[in-house]
Amino acid sequence: MGRAFVYVIVGGGVAAGYAALEFTRKGVSDGELCIISDEPVAPYERPALSKGFLLPEDPTRLPSFHTCVGANDEILTPKWYKEHGIELVLGTRVKSVDARRLTLVTSTGETITYNFLIIATGARALKLEEFGVEGSDAENVCYLRDLSDADRLATVIQSSSNGNAVVIGGGYIGMECAASLVINKINVTMVLAGAHCMARLFTPKIATFYEDYYMGKGVKFIKGTVLTSFEFDSDKKVTAVNLKDGNQLPADLVVVGIGIRPNISLFEGQLTIEKGGIKVNSQMQSSESSVYAIGDVATFPVKLYGEMRRLEHVDFARKSARHAVSAIMEPEKTGEFDYLPCFYSRFFAFSWQFYGDHVGEVVHFGEYEDGEVFGAYWVKEGHLVGCFLEGGTKEQYETISKATQLKPAVTDMEELEREGLGFTQTV
Ligand code: FAD
Ligand code: NDP
Repeated sequence: MGRAFVYVIVGGGVAAGYAALEFTRKGVSDGELCIISDEPVAPYERPALSKGFLLPEDPTRLPSFHTCVGANDEILTPKWYKEHGIELVLGTRVKSVDARRLTLVTSTGETITYNFLIIATGARALKLEEFGVEGSDAENVCYLRDLSDADRLATVIQSSSNGNAVVIGGGYIGMECAASLVINKINVTMVLAGAHCMARLFTPKIATFYEDYYMGKGVKFIKGTVLTSFEFDSDKKVTAVNLKDGNQLPADLVVVGIGIRPNISLFEGQLTIEKGGIKVNSQMQSSESSVYAIGDVATFPVKLYGEMRRLEHVDFARKSARHAVSAIMEPEKTGEFDYLPCFYSRFFAFSWQFYGDHVGEVVHFGEYEDGEVFGAYWVKEGHLVGCFLEGGTKEQYETISKATQLKPAVTDMEELEREGLGFTQTV
């Protein structure tokens, strides 16, 4: 025996929360929508976990960061779901889905049928074991993907004051967590496989600016090497890490941020998979017409660049969710998803945003010396395709976003460098 819903969302993260709000705005009726999440709490703004959640003073805690506070919208507490007639099934994993028969089975053994399924299962953190390193289940080795990871990290941070942390990976988790650890008075060494931090987005010049600042805060960088093994004490706690270059670093705490993999296993063999995600069209619809995918798990057509991509950022999770709901509930009114990639991060007092594509030639602009407002443009085939800006105002970020979407022609790179941020105001 089981229940039937018109709409089911599998996964209860960022995308699910924004989809729920959009469903209510499009007039979903009581009892039509069900969200099933294996997390024990209602959808929340995941970005808070590496920022406000780790602060030593007055840290952010639920319910203050439930979705959709991140888009300055309503805070959807469990009460909100109840009041809107949305069935929120928490702490429950979807174990299997039959996409043809429009049914799924949960970890409690319930079979649920649906007319439309939205996949919002997000991603899982890659484990060191997948790279041949054993022992990352020790209590002072922390990954960071969900609230339980963040709770554990916050606890280990508390017991490591004035101690040593090793951060593995110089991506988003590495950079944001390293800053939070410093703020918690922990000595940090970052171990980077590549030549500089945020290697896939930052140019060497941008990376140097932030790395210099981190070093000024006491952070040490060890580059071009990886962790090969841990040293443990008799309680199976990690006491040190061994690196491939022969270095051994003492560690009271290890934070690992080495990337993610989308949670697609329920759908392999049933839906078309591309670039590691569920392939969707410009309506976020998968190869089965009643199944949609949103957020980290979706590989979608980026109209602006004529290319299929998967993005792992919150702005996309929010906007793809709204678009899918609109496509399901108002298909005749919903055009093609025309998305401009947007990434951002915050650490220490810094805050940057990036729009567009980071390919082609790069021109830097602004004050890299004083570090207040600076940035970079990416120019491909004579057109501006990407813009990075640190320290901008709300209006400046809106301006660079609009300009990047228009892909304006750039005829003179030196002139672009001279004009700097002013260029986007003339577009
Ligand atoms: P998620 O938010 O991960 O939600 C997926 C949900 O599905 C989870 O609750 C998961 O438990 C559940 N689930 C998975 N499988 C099942 C199943 N079988 N049954 C039931 N439930 C299931 N992006 C930015 O742009 N800026 C930031 O500053 C930023 N900061 C971040 C900080 C951290 C610590 C992390 C981890 C990510 C951050 N991101 C940031 C990325 C952003 O949070 C993700 O892109 C976004 O959460 C993706 O939303 P989603 O709904 O696709 O996946
Ligand atoms: P990222 O993909 O951002 O970075 C992973 C880092 O780990 C890269 O520097 C990568 O190096 C390095 N790496 C990969 N494999 C290894 C290895 N075996 N040993 C050592 N280093 C390795 O992932 P994160 O883990 O930092 O973040 C996880 C997810 O959370 C991402 O989806 C990210 O978008 C999201 N997130 C986003 C934030 C934001 O947008 N502000 C903030 C926090 C998380 P290389 O680049 O050289 O391959």
